[in-house]
Amino acid sequence: MTDLLREPALYIDGDWVPGTAEDCEVENPATEQTTGVVAQASPHEVEGALEAAHRAFASWSATPVAERADALRRLHDVIAERAETFAELINREQGSPPPLARKLHVDVPLSVIAQTAAAVEEFAFRSRIGNSVIIREPVGVVAAITPWNLPLHQIIVKVVPALAAGCTVVLKPAALTPLTAFELARAFDAAGFPAGVFNLVAGSGRDVGEQLTKSPLVDHVSFTGSTAVGRRIAAMAAETLKGVTLELGGKSASVVLSDVSDERLATAVKVTVANCYLNGGQTCTALSRLIVPANRLPQVEQLAAAAAAKFQPGTRLGPLISAGQRKEVESFLTPGKVVSSPLELPDRGYYVTPTVYSDVDPDSRLAQEEIFGPVLSIMTAESDDHAIELANNSIYGLGGALWTDDTDRATEWSARIRTGQVDVNGAPFNPRAPFGGYKQSGIGREIGDYGIADVLEIKAVQL
Ligand code: NAP
Ligand code: MG
Repeated sequence: MTDLLREPALYIDGDWVPGTAEDCEVENPATEQTTGVVAQASPHEVEGALEAAHRAFASWSATPVAERADALRRLHDVIAERAETFAELINREQGSPPPLARKLHVDVPLSVIAQTAAAVEEFAFRSRIGNSVIIREPVGVVAAITPWNLPLHQIIVKVVPALAAGCTVVLKPAALTPLTAFELARAFDAAGFPAGVFNLVAGSGRDVGEQLTKSPLVDHVSFTGSTAVGRRIAAMAAETLKGVTLELGGKSASVVLSDVSDERLATAVKVTVANCYLNGGQTCTALSRLIVPANRLPQVEQLAAAAAAKFQPGTRLGPLISAGQRKEVESFLTPGKVVSSPLELPDRGYYVTPTVYSDVDPDSRLAQEEIFGPVLSIMTAESDDHAIELANNSIYGLGGALWTDDTDRATEWSARIRTGQVDVNGAPFNPRAPFGGYKQSGIGREIGDYGIADVLEIKAVQL
């Protein structure tokens, strides 16, 4: 794909509608070349999309659950058929190396769609409490505002549970990675969703994002991105008292307890480095802090340096999303105890050397701020209680990992980590489990049963 991709029309009310705001260019962060030109929505087109979603809500919310689940299964099959196209687009606008583009960026959201279809069919939309029937009903029109780090996944985890619940959706994808969203709109069209149920309006956060957030036609805003913008969205949504789901930043810790064998320690370090560097370090749950028993530090430093050396920029490690993001990440690469070795960077593209810092001060900027790049900070604990204390020394509370040989006590230790997710001993992602953050990492939960529940109102009918 070297030709310029053009997306001249937005997807509104089941139709392709030219965007009348000025077009926006899309850059390939691996080549620094313009790779696409996409239409942008004016306020008039955004309003059209909102009215279409509002109209479609009456019939979509009344559509039997089994039919909504079937529609999602058709969407799954269309995306699966076009998986290579999606992976190519993600490689092109987000820079992920092709194998990762397929495995992480396409296969994971596919499993989320399949699991959501199953979850909604089993969901208890009605229950009883004494003389009351409790009815759970879709909230209405959901505005989805998504970031560029996982151009397909971040859309799917919002839009699919909302549609399953019976809500209709207006999507504003990240201006840096809109091409995937246009392909997704074609997939919705091919899957035969009724007009107005899913609408795509591309544009900037400041224009389209704010219009959606403030609109009285929107009943719920589902946002993923920075904590700063999340705060602003919550404040704007308060004017019309609409609900928000916010998936924000993180500074997740990988906690190695003192009982681990040398073998488990080696796995813990290897998996933590790989998780921290996944997607160029641009994932919200990146394990960017590694907390280890002080007496194991020399061993950990060696293991981490060896693991980092395998992330050659340009092959295994993709670029950062933009020149601005590279500048931001480089601002963290200050003098310190660096235990990784420098790697050669490609001539073009927004690459940085994957870096491991050791003996990091737990209150330093390196240990406290979300970097969103391939930078790991190792810290030492004097005891297991101290390790948990360090893990919780954060304004964030998104993810985390725990490593122990005492699997009987793993759940109790995990309960003491104040985050929405904890993975014990390298356990895999569960595409049906709730996903979200404590503290300043967000509000609400996405994916599966809890993602559906997040966009439902609750009614009590007394009999
Ligand atoms: P961002 O500014 O929070 O952008 C996320 C989305 O929100 C984009 O679609 C953006 O539109 C939109 N937006 C921006 N300002 C808005 C506003 N005032 N009202 C409504 N929508 C608005 O994130 P970013 O600038 O791309 O990335 C900055 C940092 O955020 C990263 O370095 C990282 O720390 C964090 N981040 C976290 C995640 C995550 O998964 N939790 C994902 C991405 C980034 P535009 O298209 O115009 O930008
Ligand atoms: Mg921004």
